Amino acid sequence: MKLLSLLGLLMAPLCAQEAGNAEAAPPELNPPAIPAAEDPDLLFEKGRSLGRVGDDDRKPFRRIIQRTLMLGEPRPEYGAILTFDDQLIPAIQGDSSALQVATDLKIHHARAIFFANIPDNSEEVLHQILKSPSPGQEALKVLGKRKPAFMAAVRALLKIKDGDRYLCEVFNHTAFHQDMKLMKTGSDRYKVCLVGIRFIEECLDEAYQAERPGFRRARYFRFPFLHSPKYAATRKDLNEVFTGLGLLALGATQDSKDVLNFSPDLAFDSLAAAQKNQKYTPTLKAHGEAEEPIALFHTRSWSRIKPGILKALAKKKPATSLGAE
Ligand SMILES: [Zn+2]
Repeated sequence: MKLLSLLGLLMAPLCAQEAGNAEAAPPELNPPAIPAAEDPDLLFEKGRSLGRVGDDDRKPFRRIIQRTLMLGEPRPEYGAILTFDDQLIPAIQGDSSALQVATDLKIHHARAIFFANIPDNSEEVLHQILKSPSPGQEALKVLGKRKPAFMAAVRALLKIKDGDRYLCEVFNHTAFHQDMKLMKTGSDRYKVCLVGIRFIEECLDEAYQAERPGFRRARYFRFPFLHSPKYAATRKDLNEVFTGLGLLALGATQDSKDVLNFSPDLAFDSLAAAQKNQKYTPTLKAHGEAEEPIALFHTRSWSRIKPGILKALAKKKPATSLGAE
């Protein structure tokens, strides 16, 4: 029931947008419905077209809409799904690793969901790739060198369990953390970006197969800086790429900007808002409504924000657990 209600919530805003175009008697469209909504696995099936939001090319496309619901991911009793972006392995000494995040959260029986880039890909590395005569091939060469370290980091996370339950998932945040907002189809930047997205999906398939044979994984993607492409042609193309890969874009409802302020207090506030079903940003504070709160943090700032997050985890079910803790 929980899953069905989540699916209903997912569909509602999409259907509402379609309804706005009803009187225009549109000609032939991509079939807009997600026909097998009862089975969320189908939403992540490679090659399954989800159609457009409506018949207007200027409107967003289904796969790259940044959803704030995770199909099949139940809302935890501490109020929010905890997601951590960027590199799994710290690039700067003193920053945290994904394994540290997962190990600390395991003590509190909490799940950690990572959106990963490939390690050691600095701006300078990307710059060199883009200057080379065949950037796509050069990107693959560089990524191949990083693969063993990335695979080891992913596999270490995928095997962590709390009893019978796996505690971590790893998803796609592009290989090079490029800002996709102004990317144009046909550009070298876009080509390299797609090479990196595909490379991560291949690595994740391999890692899941090795650690959890037969496991049907979800396939989420988070845009670097939460910036989806602005241009319609890029959006259309990327929607097709995502359809091929079975990817769905995920946004966030609780963003404490931890990587800018390193503040455990704001991290706590973001989760406290989630426990009241509200969204959060440091400027707007708690506001609006978060149906299934998705908290956005960054792996590397974990050691600094951790006290705030652990404090929020200790405040489970505030309305019903009085006196029980
Ligand atoms: Zn990021």
